Amino acid sequence: MTFKAEYIWIDGTEPTAKLRSKTKILADGAEPPVWGFDGSSTNQAEGHASDLVLQPVFSCPDPIRGGDDILVLCEVLHTDLTPHASNTRALLRPVAEKFAAHQPVFGIEQEYTFFQGSRPLGFPENGYPAPQGGYYCGVGADEIFGREIVEKHLDNCLTAGLGISGINAEVMPGQWEFQVGPLSPLQVSDHMWVARWLLYRTAEAYGISATLDAKPAKGDWNGAGAHTNFSTRAMREGYEPIITACEALGDGDKPAVHVKHYGVGIEARLTGLHETAPWNEYSYGVSDRGASVRIPWQVEVDRKGYIEDRRPNANCDPYVVTRLMVDTCCTALEKAGQV
Ligand code: ADP
Ligand code: MN
Ligand code: MN
Ligand code: MN
Repeated sequence: MTFKAEYIWIDGTEPTAKLRSKTKILADGAEPPVWGFDGSSTNQAEGHASDLVLQPVFSCPDPIRGGDDILVLCEVLHTDLTPHASNTRALLRPVAEKFAAHQPVFGIEQEYTFFQGSRPLGFPENGYPAPQGGYYCGVGADEIFGREIVEKHLDNCLTAGLGISGINAEVMPGQWEFQVGPLSPLQVSDHMWVARWLLYRTAEAYGISATLDAKPAKGDWNGAGAHTNFSTRAMREGYEPIITACEALGDGDKPAVHVKHYGVGIEARLTGLHETAPWNEYSYGVSDRGASVRIPWQVEVDRKGYIEDRRPNANCDPYVVTRLMVDTCCTALEKAGQV
């Protein structure tokens, strides 16, 4: 007997990478082996030496095909097995290892927007829908567009064993959110990339596409973000480390460096309106959804917990965002003796 393995990888599309996948038939009981692909078709190689290597790093049951079939998330390597420039996971590995004693965990809120043709799902053919207000966590056919797909995606993530922790309708018609975590930096990022693949794959069957575009509708509509909730063991046990982390993210050139790597088009989303802080002004505050970084009210009451970096775009790379946050915050926590 045989089973199917869907090999998934992140390509080299600029400015935002895309997901790719292809199928390998494996003999019963086989571990998914390394495989290859044509990097010249994915903006990862030139035509004269285009072979690249797929190195399996995370596998889970395939909820679309079912049975014994699996999904296999891969890192992209050169044929000498060094990481390809597009392989941001390889950069996260040593940072996660260096600060493992901090026990960092992340919960990421992935916002996204369904499109039918060239319009967000639920936008009328001519003009615009009723303005923002009733759609967030709404109910009813006048406010909710695509729920059947969202439910199917949630079930698919659960069947795959991903650490998905919730879903909600967002502030614009056709806009939704799912949350992954809390999990370690590598786990939350691996699960997020597979959950994104499952989103596109699930919606495909309905003739609907999903986009992580950070500003999918111009005008008076919220953008789409990927709020990144973060804690270390010290932050989960006390309030001083919470403040250390918030201050570290605002120190020196850190705000500029982080924002630069938090997703393409971030200036168009972080305008200071629509529950955002301006991209070029760092701030943090309790319960403040107009700050760059929010300390949830319960965290201030409990004097321990986590922080929410509200800046990452929906189209961010979680391998990059978690690496920067761990590096910046854990370096400062270490200096402060708050491990
Ligand atoms: P919001 O009120 O910002 O919409 P959500 O409920 O959508 O919040 O998301 C909160 C996220 O915070 C969840 O993904 C959850 O897993 C995560 N989270 C909760 N506690 C922690 C923690 N201690 N460390 C990191 N993330 C956490
Ligand atoms: Mn949320
Ligand atoms: Mn949201
Ligand atoms: Mn949030």
